Amino acid sequence: MAYIIAEGCTKDASCVDVCPVDCIHPRKDEANFEEVPQLYIDPVACIDCGACIPVCPVPTIFTLDDLPEQWKNYIEINAAYYGN
Ligand code: SF4
Ligand code: SF4
Repeated sequence: MAYIIAEGCTKDASCVDVCPVDCIHPRKDEANFEEVPQLYIDPVACIDCGACIPVCPVPTIFTLDDLPEQWKNYIEINAAYYGN
C-alpha cells in the first residue's frame, strides 16, 4: 500500500524534503518540475513511513485507506508518472 498525492498539491515540496527514500518527484532540481501540475509518489518505492503527511500544508497526501472516494483516480495518476 503506497501513499498517494491527490487534489490540490501546491508543489511546495515540503514532502520531498522529509521522504527518507526519495520517492516523491519531480524534485525542484528536476528538469520537468515547472511543467507538472503536481508531485507524485512512486507506489513501488514508497515505504509507507507516513513522514510526508504531517508536513503537507494542503493537506493532500493520503494512505490508500483514507483516500476520499472522489480522488481514487489519483492512485493511477501517481503510478502513471512512474510508468506503472
Ligand atoms: S510515506 Fe514515507 S516513503 Fe512514502 S512518500 Fe511519504 S515520506 Fe516517502
Ligand atoms: S507537501 Fe503536499 S502540497 Fe507540498 S508538494 Fe507535497 S503533496 Fe504537494
